[in-house]
Amino acid sequence: MHSRDYIRLEDEYGAHNYKPMDVVLTRGEGIWVWDVEGKKYMDCLSAYSAVNQGHCHPEILKAMMEQAQKLTLTSRAFRNDQLGLFYKEVCELTRSHKVLPMNSGAEAVETVIKAARKWGYEVKGVPKDQAEIIVCENNFHGRTITIVGFSTDEGSRRGFGPFTPGFKVIPFGDADALEQAVTPNTVGFLVEPIQGEAGVIIPPDGYLKKAREICTRHDIVLILDEIQTGLGRTGKLLAEEYDGIEADLTLVGKALSGGFYPVSAVLSNKAVLGVLRPGEHGSTFGGNPLACAIARKAVRVLFEENLIDNAQEQGGYFLDGLKKIESPHIKEIRGKGLMIGLELHPEAGGAHRFCKLLKEKGLLCKDTHENTIRFAPPLVIRREDVDWALERIEAVMKDTA
Ligand SMILES: *Cc1c(COP(=O)(O)O)cnc(C)c1O
Repeated sequence: MHSRDYIRLEDEYGAHNYKPMDVVLTRGEGIWVWDVEGKKYMDCLSAYSAVNQGHCHPEILKAMMEQAQKLTLTSRAFRNDQLGLFYKEVCELTRSHKVLPMNSGAEAVETVIKAARKWGYEVKGVPKDQAEIIVCENNFHGRTITIVGFSTDEGSRRGFGPFTPGFKVIPFGDADALEQAVTPNTVGFLVEPIQGEAGVIIPPDGYLKKAREICTRHDIVLILDEIQTGLGRTGKLLAEEYDGIEADLTLVGKALSGGFYPVSAVLSNKAVLGVLRPGEHGSTFGGNPLACAIARKAVRVLFEENLIDNAQEQGGYFLDGLKKIESPHIKEIRGKGLMIGLELHPEAGGAHRFCKLLKEKGLLCKDTHENTIRFAPPLVIRREDVDWALERIEAVMKDTA
């Protein structure tokens, strides 16, 4: 079968809720993927940062195979011998006190919304059903009804109402706006340290530090969605480290499994998760032994292979290299670690056509928000690979009219 045959099958039998680039991948290794015709590409998206450890990482694969032959699912009706070890290792590495495992990122977001509200009623003393959670414009936290209900992206919301009440939207990166939005009923502030889907938007220096201070002063739960920024992507284990703070609740997902399996988790530094009692929240697959064995290895690999420092180093090198490219199309280059955005001028004709040209040259990239190309390769990338990418990006940026 050829690429076009697989594409035809998807078009005929699948829901059309995605519009993927026409490349049909069949194999991956490290930063590289191959299509069914055998063409090799550098993966500069990393499945939205879910494969930070590189495709088909051999150690994670081994952990998965071993566990899959022993025990995969018990449900939480019974205990398993991986869950406790997963909790302990994740807590020690992230300086957390409690963990709640789920599967997708959106489920972790739903979990913190429930926990923050309950904490608001039981601990803070907010009157019944009055809890408010503050979120930011251009946020991306997932696709459930509650989550799209507080999105500001029309395409994500249109046709899906009515939505869950209790959310207030403020501009991203504006600490004064947060201060002003607080009421006695505010229970939480949910924010991404860097807005990925919005186009790699980096807030002003010290923003999270100010948010931490405001949340502490008003007794509000600071919730950081690090599903994309976390686990080494920005050159730190968690992006909160750049501001020297600790969130009350931190969400991780995506790279928590190195791309092998959907695993997400809520990490808690405060007693917030303590408000959830038996029967009040859960998931059939959440915390299953296969997920735990994979996640334990996936997190360990980040440290054993020095991938967090490598993201810092190669990210800086990549960013500098991009900044040296002279092209009339480029408006701004920004990034932290290996989370990099290249914003084009509106007259450049959109990021999508550049992504198609990059694909022809062997780089798989994704356009976000019309005019931004995101570069987020797996954290196992080496300097010579970055050079390889830069050469091709420069050619596309310079040779395209
Ligand atoms: C991907 C993502 C989510 C949602 O994760 P899913 O696993 O797709 O549900 C939430 N928040 C951020 C910041 C993300 O990047």
